[in-house]
Amino acid sequence: MAPRHVPSAGIPLNLRQALRTAIADLQRRDVPSASLAAELLLMHVLGRDRAYLYTNPEVELAPETAKRYFALVAERATGKPTQYITGHQEFWGLDFEVTPDVLIPRPETEHLVEAALEFARADSREKRGRLQRIVDVGTGSGCIALALASELPDALICATDISRPALEVARHNARRLGLGDRVRFVQSDLLSCMGAGADFDLVLSNPPYVGADELDRVQREVREFEPRVAWGGVGRGDAIYEKLFAQARDVLRPGGHVAVEVGYSQAESVRKMLGTGWVGVGVRPDLAGIPRVVTAQKSSQSSDLGPPWPASTRNPSI
Ligand code: GLN
Repeated sequence: MAPRHVPSAGIPLNLRQALRTAIADLQRRDVPSASLAAELLLMHVLGRDRAYLYTNPEVELAPETAKRYFALVAERATGKPTQYITGHQEFWGLDFEVTPDVLIPRPETEHLVEAALEFARADSREKRGRLQRIVDVGTGSGCIALALASELPDALICATDISRPALEVARHNARRLGLGDRVRFVQSDLLSCMGAGADFDLVLSNPPYVGADELDRVQREVREFEPRVAWGGVGRGDAIYEKLFAQARDVLRPGGHVAVEVGYSQAESVRKMLGTGWVGVGVRPDLAGIPRVVTAQKSSQSSDLGPPWPASTRNPSI
């Protein structure tokens, strides 16, 4: 649907007027953060940064550019996220390409990267005498794995996703960022692909955690445009952590860490899902004060991992 205020053809429009018109259109269509969206789309069509928009408010838009701009504003007004229109999102200071096959990286996920870096740096290569091994489960755009690869030159990083198209996007981002030889991408349902010999130092994940009962709280932008396989909306939102923690315990070395992002009300229930075999459980808040990252260390004592006897003798017959 065309926005009501599309300027008539032939009437020149400067940057300030174009922005004002676009913001009004987007606000009328209940688009959240309308000004930011209008700016980002204008920056995108002009190939300029924000400073340019505000230092050149009188510059006139070429008619073709104005037409393109208002076409994108109309697309945004349908609810399509700005990042799927521009094809980009910044995360950890890196530019990620995004398509509707992947979740758009969120700023709060940077807290998971911070936690991972703390664990990785406290447990450096020198200390272990070998390269660190990290796995990012459900990598989507690759934002977590690639942020870590950019920070940790001595780590071997594996990134899994159940979605093949998502892995293509992640691989593409790895190449663009010059990190293609540092990260291995594998199609897998969580960690199911890992063999018995897996020996990771760190398991990370921002899994799909929205529950079916929370669908009405999910923004239209997410519900109608972001891939369901990435955000959830099926069954209990926290159920996925139970499976993930059990698999993580199998693939981590004793003393290795797990760190996961959780939904706004899930930290307590997710903590409980860790089960036995973990120590030093921690919860970290995001900038809004919401408990956002749950971390734990796999116990180095094998006695914490379950009964010390083989399964076959667990119920000895009398
Ligand atoms: N790990 C990716 C991110 O944090 C994708 C997460 C997902 O698809 N659930 O953006």
